[in-house]
Amino acid sequence: IAPADSLVHALRAAVTAAPDRTFLAYFDGRLTYRETDELSDSVAGHLAERGLERGDRVAIMLQNSPLFVLALLGAWKAGATVVPVNPMYKSGEVGHVLHDAGVTALICADRAWEEYLRDTAAGSPVRIVLTGCELDFQSRGDSRVLSFERLPEAPDADDLTTVARRGRRAPGDRDPAPGDIALISYTSGTSGTPKGATNTHGNIMYNAERQRTGLGLPEAPVYFALAPLFHITGMVCQLGACLNSAGTLVLAYRFEAGVVLDAFAEHRPHYTVGPSTAFMALAAHPSATRGHFSSFQVINSGGAPLPPALVEKFREGFGPYIRNGYGLTECTAPCASVPPHLEAPVDEASGTLAVGLPGPDTVVRIVDEQGAEVPFGEPGEILVRGPQVVPGYWQRPDATAETFPDGELRTGDIGFMDEQGWLYVVDRKKDMINASGFKVWPREVEDVLYTHPAVREAAVVGVPDGYRGETVKAYISLRPGAQADPDELAAHCKERLAAYKYPRQVEILPDLPKTASGKILRRELRSRTHDNGRRPAGDS
Ligand code: ATP
Repeated sequence: IAPADSLVHALRAAVTAAPDRTFLAYFDGRLTYRETDELSDSVAGHLAERGLERGDRVAIMLQNSPLFVLALLGAWKAGATVVPVNPMYKSGEVGHVLHDAGVTALICADRAWEEYLRDTAAGSPVRIVLTGCELDFQSRGDSRVLSFERLPEAPDADDLTTVARRGRRAPGDRDPAPGDIALISYTSGTSGTPKGATNTHGNIMYNAERQRTGLGLPEAPVYFALAPLFHITGMVCQLGACLNSAGTLVLAYRFEAGVVLDAFAEHRPHYTVGPSTAFMALAAHPSATRGHFSSFQVINSGGAPLPPALVEKFREGFGPYIRNGYGLTECTAPCASVPPHLEAPVDEASGTLAVGLPGPDTVVRIVDEQGAEVPFGEPGEILVRGPQVVPGYWQRPDATAETFPDGELRTGDIGFMDEQGWLYVVDRKKDMINASGFKVWPREVEDVLYTHPAVREAAVVGVPDGYRGETVKAYISLRPGAQADPDELAAHCKERLAAYKYPRQVEILPDLPKTASGKILRRELRSRTHDNGRRPAGDS
């Protein structure tokens, strides 16, 4: 297949090559490539008829479901820029996005529309509304169709499923060009107010094409969507790469370990990608067996630190090797990954697992505070230049100039590179803990905590301390049925880390707070009251 220049073209190529192949599998429902093309044409036709113009913004606020994909492809066919919105967002958060991006069409779950989005949209630029029920998708005998049951009538919203089945044609003259903005992706906000990164169709296709050619998957690969599609990793590495390979994408609404394991057993996927917390949850599930993972050829972890202890525990317990990958919303998902024929090295001095090798057209530099490049092995800020780096933030010239000087992305992450070109991420610059003047990088302490058999999730933050300025505090959740007390966990770290690094406070929680894309929210932990952690015995 010749490389397509947008996912709309990739869809057309797949329809020509394999019209009756299943593109989307969702519980017991299926949509073929031809059906997806026709239904999304109809969505596009409807949006255009309602007055949507090229370049207008369409917000999609849905979980992983066929409706998400129909809405996305329909909006792109109508020439729109899509604004994916986390369906867990509350009214104020959605309102910010609708106003900031100047959204004129909103596609969302009917229940959310009824409950609060109708009010949220009332004062916003939104003029066109499509609602649908994401959970109600099933096959009916031989003719595989979308079925739909409406909640009480929403007079000012059209029903997405009915619209998709009306058989309208997409406007013929609105195919996206590579330089057009495909997405305004609001960063997940693990560290501040969301800004909209403008991912072009060219940015997306570069990474989707790298995934197609670089993973060594078989013809017609089966992808499992572990990451949410509204997040850039899910959008590009699952949906984009799958569509670009004319493969099958298995969707499971949203992450629930038991449901996901059942779907692995039923669909036998070759590939998935998710945050490391998803693999921790799968590994901790009582029904997980090696058999659940035996069909996988590549499993990628991305978007968050991957503790080396998890990689080893997972390989021992279940077989597959989890590949690290490094990316940001601002570089349209990955900019460094571990090729399928290699394993990421672990840096001996720090115990850090490499995140990968930069892609072939990607230049990664490590610089000091003055912007000068540092020697191999020395930490500094990671800068990225390449075809996946976005042109900037939506309507934020100042933030764009600051983060993308001369088109090069300043990631805000601290990392180093070894002589073979492997990139290592130390941590986020802003998460550094300053304990009595010593730098402590939370990820290093977390990696050590993950080597303790009772630890399921670990997050380390700096909390104010009258004596040290800041002190190291660890929040832990335990594996089901496991026992460990704070003193024991602190001692485990004390044995393995320099004295200034081990956590003086350890608090065990049932679960750690996470973003909808599965990242642990250190920011939220930092803002909890600082004094409720027990101090390990013997701490001065
Ligand atoms: P915000 O920008 O609002 O803080 P966010 O940074 O979580 O949100 P994303 O673009 O989803 O938004 O995340 C990118 C960040 O995730 C990177 O800057 C890096 O800190 C972290 N990250 C991604 N991959 C890895 C990895 N393999 N190892 C360690 N950290 C990673």
